[in-house]
Parts: sequence; C-alpha cells; structure tokens
Amino acid sequence: MEFNLSEEHRLLQRSVRDFARREVAPHAQEIERNGEFPLDLFRAVTKLGWLGAAIPTEYGGGGLDLLADFIIAEELATALPGFAMDCMVHSGVIGYKVIYRMGTDDQRKEYLPRFTRGEVIGAIVMTEPDAGSDVRGVKTTAAVDGDDYVLNGRKTLITNFGAPLPSVGMVLAGMSNGDGDRKYSAFLVEKDTPGISVSDPIEMSGMKSSYQNEVTFDDVHIPKGALLGKEGDGLKMALASIDVDRILCCALSTGIARGAYERAQAYSRQREAFGQPIGDFQAVQIMLAEMATKITASKLLGYYATSLEVAGQRCTSEAAMAKLFATTMAQYVTEHAMHIHGGWGYTVEVGVERFYRDNMAVVLGGGAAEILQLAIGKASAAGALGSLDISSNPN
Ligand SMILES: Cc1cc2nc3c(=O)[nH]c(=O)nc-3n(C[C@H](O)[C@H](O)[C@H](O)COP(=O)(O)OP(=O)(O)OC[C@H]3O[C@@H](n4cnc5c(N)ncnc54)[C@H](O)[C@@H]3O)c2cc1C
Repeated sequence: MEFNLSEEHRLLQRSVRDFARREVAPHAQEIERNGEFPLDLFRAVTKLGWLGAAIPTEYGGGGLDLLADFIIAEELATALPGFAMDCMVHSGVIGYKVIYRMGTDDQRKEYLPRFTRGEVIGAIVMTEPDAGSDVRGVKTTAAVDGDDYVLNGRKTLITNFGAPLPSVGMVLAGMSNGDGDRKYSAFLVEKDTPGISVSDPIEMSGMKSSYQNEVTFDDVHIPKGALLGKEGDGLKMALASIDVDRILCCALSTGIARGAYERAQAYSRQREAFGQPIGDFQAVQIMLAEMATKITASKLLGYYATSLEVAGQRCTSEAAMAKLFATTMAQYVTEHAMHIHGGWGYTVEVGVERFYRDNMAVVLGGGAAEILQLAIGKASAAGALGSLDISSNPN
C-alpha cells in the first residue's frame, strides 16, 4: 500500500501551498470584505497552469489527474475558500469531467484550450428555484427547432456563470420524449448567447469572493453541437459530474478545516492565560488533537474517492462519503478553531469565523447531508458497499 504522493503531486502541493500563504492569505480578508471576484488571482493561477491540471497537455492542461485538482482546491481553500470553489468547479468539474471525459472531440477542441488559458470560466447550471436536491424536478425545457435546440427556464444559485468573464455552463433541461414522458439532456451553453440574462450576485453568508447568480433562458437558441452525449443522457452526465464535484467539495472542506486548525494551533502557542500559553492546557490540546485527527481522516477518504475516479471506477458512494465526512468534520473544526481563539474568534477582524461560514456553503451546495446519506444508504441497501474494502476495486 502506497501513501506517498508522486514527485509531481508533491511539487504541485508545495507550490500551491506557498502561493496560498504568500499571495492569497494576506489579501483574503479584504477580498471577502469587498465581495469581489478576484480576477487577478484567477489570472495568476491560470499563468501557473493550475486551471486544468487534470486536462491533457495537448489542450494546454497540466497533464496530471484529478488528485492534482484535489490538491489545488485543498491548498487554496486554506486561504480563500470561495476562490478555491470557483477554481475547482471550472477546472475539475466542468473542464476535466464534463468536457474532457464526457464531451465530444469537437467540444474538447473548442473549449479546453480556452479553459486552460482562463478565457472562459466553467459553471454547473442545474439548480432551479423549485429543484435543488431533486434534480429530476427541473422545469427548464429544451426543444428541437430545425438545426437548433431552444432553451427556456430559470436557474438559480449558479456559481461562476455571473463572474466577470465569459462563461460556459453545463445546463440541465427536460425534453419531451414524444410519449408524454420527459427525458433530460445536458448542453454546453455560452453566457453571451442571445436570450440569456444573469442577475446581480445573490448575497451569500460566506464565500463572498465567489459569485452565485440567477440565470434566465428566454428562447435561447443553441446549436445541435452543444448537446453533451445523446438526448436523454442528461441525468447520467449530471450525476457523473456531481461525483467529481463531491470529491472536490471534500478537498474544499479539508482545506477550510486546515486553514482554521493552523490558525488555532498558532494562536494556542502565542496566547497566554493563567501565566502560560493556552496550548499547554490539556483541554486545548485535546481540541487540537481531535481537529488534526478528523482532518487527516477526511483527507484519506478524499484521496480514496479520488483514486477510484482516477482509475475510472464508479465512485458515487465513496464521493458522497467523502463530502459527508469532510463537511461535517469542517463544521466541528471551524467551530473549535473559533473556540480556541476565545472571544476574538467571534470577531470578523481575526478572520477565523469566516471559515465556519464558508464551510456552510460546502455543506449545503452539491448535495446536503441528507442527500448524501440517501445515496450511501441506497448503495448499502443494495449490498453494493461490499465489505468496505479500501482498494481501487472496492466491489
Ligand atoms: C454556495 C453555493 C453554491 C452553489 N453553486 C451551484 C452551482 O454552481 N450550480 C448549481 O446547479 N447549483 C448550485 N448550488 C445549489 C445547490 O446545489 C442546492 O442549493 C442544493 O442542491 C440543495 O438544493 P435546495 O437549495 O433547493 O434545497 P432543497 O432541495 O429544497 O432541500 C432543503 C433541505 O431539505 C433536505 N431534503 C431535500 N430532499 C430530501 C430528502 N429526500 N430526504 C431528506 N432530506 C431532504 C435537504 O437536504 C435540505 O437540507 C449552490 C449552492 C450554494 C449554497
């Protein structure tokens, strides 16, 4: 059994960690306070080749794998989780999984070089005002009109599509099946297509450097080539992209928890009470011990789910487990990091409370705990979890 990162992954981890500490963390508070999408940082990570780490070099990507995206998301999230989320949706979910793994050759050639050059930003365009957890409830429609499809409907809480950049989103829509039933299809849609309007950013509790917007489709004509897979493949595509989204959500929450833990650990050495550093009190050490243990367990679960996806194995249950564990773990860790900071932990100025708020975005987006438990429970009931062996072929 091998737990070492390859030399390439280790180097990447060092570089992103260094970048997050030197270039992101010192500005994170101000960026969050201003609530502006950090275009400069987006350009900087593009130059460093981190937008598309898992995309092959022939398309301008890093030629690595999803573990590279996991590492980038985790390290950036230790400093600025909202920005880490923007990057992971763009790079890992839409760039790598949707376009590279599930797109056509033409779609790869058209979009991936623009993705890796940072000329467009990728978005998942699924949730609607009346359909979030229940993806099948989407009311947006796609109808055939000559050589085009026509989209009508309203999406909400969409990350990246409203960022100050051109954007391409995977839009999930329902289509008539001809027999009164519905089928679902997924399309790659450019933001500047006539008939699309994007609202101002919705004010969120945390992750203010990431934009969530409402998107309206009013008789939007898109070419036949925009279809992902075949008509009727939409749910399959959406669920496959959600697996990768959940793995990278584990990376985000692991990074968020590490960011909070590292601040709490450092504070516990500086802050004195009753004549000694608070970190010398066993009660504080126990909190730090629990935090460190949970973070390590979360990372292992995330790496395991990642390894299945990299090996081309189905990882729906493991991705759900990774997100469920990581987000719950980070709620615990961020709360205790505030606790270790005492009253100062509750101040915005110290900046540890924002990790708690930011993690809630990961808890709720991409499948809340109950939905993840449903997915894992369904697999368990079907006997598909086997003996829970940790191997690249678990079943
Ligand atoms: C920061 C952020 C970014 C987001 N980015 C995107 C994005 O880029 N693209 C996108 O498409 N969407 C995005 N979303 C939307 C997100 O995916 C949805 O909010 C999420 O899927 C939950 O849907 P909902 O809000 O409609 O809640 P609902 O589905 O209404 O659920 C409300 C509550 O009921 C529970 N519940 C629902 N059904 C069941 C059930 N069967 N059993 C038990 N409990 C249940 C849920 O777990 C939840 O706690 C984002 C959300 C956030 C917060």
